[in-house]
Amino acid sequence: MKAEIIAVGTELLLGQIVNTNAKFLSQGLAELGVDVYYQTVVGDNEARIRRAIETACGRADLLVFTGGLGPTLDDLTRDALAAFLGLPIHLHEPTMRKIEEMFSGRGTAFVESNRRQAMLIEGAVPLRNDTGLAVGNALSAGGKHYLLLPGPPREMKPMFENDASAWLRELLGDSAALHSTMLKFSGIGESALEDLFIDLIREQTDPTIAPYAKEGEVAIRVSTKSADAEEAARRMEPTLQEIRRRADRYLYAEEDITLEEAVIRLLASQRRTLSVAESCTGGMIATMLTAVPGSADVFSGGVVSYTNDVKRKLLGVPLSLLEGDGAPGAVSAETAAAMAEGMRAAADTDLALSVTGVAGPAGSEGKPVGLVYIGLAERGKPTKTERIQLAGDREGIRLRASKRTLYRLWLALTGRD
Ligand code: ATP
Repeated sequence: MKAEIIAVGTELLLGQIVNTNAKFLSQGLAELGVDVYYQTVVGDNEARIRRAIETACGRADLLVFTGGLGPTLDDLTRDALAAFLGLPIHLHEPTMRKIEEMFSGRGTAFVESNRRQAMLIEGAVPLRNDTGLAVGNALSAGGKHYLLLPGPPREMKPMFENDASAWLRELLGDSAALHSTMLKFSGIGESALEDLFIDLIREQTDPTIAPYAKEGEVAIRVSTKSADAEEAARRMEPTLQEIRRRADRYLYAEEDITLEEAVIRLLASQRRTLSVAESCTGGMIATMLTAVPGSADVFSGGVVSYTNDVKRKLLGVPLSLLEGDGAPGAVSAETAAAMAEGMRAAADTDLALSVTGVAGPAGSEGKPVGLVYIGLAERGKPTKTERIQLAGDREGIRLRASKRTLYRLWLALTGRD
C-alpha cells in the first residue's frame, strides 16, 4: 500500500511550527509495512486542500491527514474531503456528549462551533481521541483509504497508535500486533552503535532492528509481529541476547526511559545520594535529574560553579589549581576532581559528579572547544576523572557533556567502571 501524508496548517507553511507529525506518521506507517511515497504540506484553504487531495489520489492508496479537525472556521480538512468525495457529514453523538460534558464540567457555556469537532464523514469509522475533543475519521471510499487525524501531536499520536493503527492493520489483512522492545544506549554514537550491529541490521528479517537517534542518546527498536505476546518475546530473545552481549557497556535500559531515569532508579535501589557541580553545563544535569519524578529521594542538589570564584568559594577548589603559571586551569582533570570532592563534602552525599569544559564558540585557557573533564567522587573511594573531546556547537556540547557525565555515573553504579 502506498501512502501520502498531508499535513494541513498555514502555521507549517509560515515556518511557525515544525512538521513533527509527518516524521512520526512516516515512522509509524513504515512499521506497519505501509510505504510513504510523498509528504505534502498545505495551508488552511479549502480549494488548495482539495487540490492536494486530487493530486494525492493520483499517486497513493492511503491519504493520512493531520490538522484542521478543530472547532474554528479555518479547520477545513474534514469539509474539504467530504466535498471531494461528495459525501455528507453527520454528528457523532458519543463525541458530542463528551464535548457537552466537558463544557458542563468546566462550568462554561457551550460554544456552538465545538460541534464541528464531533463530525464524521458518512461511512467513516470514528477514531477515539483520549487526549482531546476532535474525533478522528477513518474511511474507505472510491477505492482509496483516508485517515483524518488532529493536528496537536499529543492528540494525534495516541489516536494513530490506537484506533488508526488497528483500522489500518485490518485493512492490510494483518491481525498480528506489532511487539517491540526499545533498547536505549549511552556513551556511544549512533554510527558506532550501528557498526557494532551492522551484520544483524543487514541480515534482519524477523525480528526487525531499527536504529533511532535521540538527543545525546541512541536507541534501537527490535520488533516482531505476532498474535501472541509470549511467542513474540521468544522470537525476539536471541536478537536481544546478542545485542546485550555486544553492547553491554552502553545498553542502559530495555525500555524507553532516559539515562537520567535509569540513574535515578539505580541510586534509589542502592539507597545512595547524589549531588552535582556543573560548570560548562550550567545546571543542565540538575535539570535532567529533577525532571524525573521521585528524584528528590536521591538527588540532593548542586552548584552551578561557572566562574573560578564560585569554584573556589563554594566548592573549595584551590586557587593554585585555577590560576597562575603552570596551574592546570579551570578545564582540567585536577579541577574536575576538586569540584566533585568539594561538592560531595558540602552536600554530604554518597556520590558527587562534576563537569568542566569548553562549550565554545571560542576556546578558553588555550584549550580547544569541546574539551570536557568529568569528575566522580564517591564516599570511601578514590575520585575518578575522565577527559573527553566532544564535537558540535555550544548547545550540542553542553547536552552531550551532561549525558556523558550521567553515563559515567551509570558505569560506576552498575560496576562497569
Ligand atoms: P485543534 O482542535 O487544536 O484546532 P486541529 O486538528 O484543528 O486541532 P490544527 O489547528 O491544525 O489542528 O493545529 C493545532 C496545533 O497542533 C498547532 O498549533 C500545532 O501546535 C500542532 N500541529 C498541527 N499540525 C502539526 C504538525 N504537522 N506537526 C506538528 N504539530 C502540529
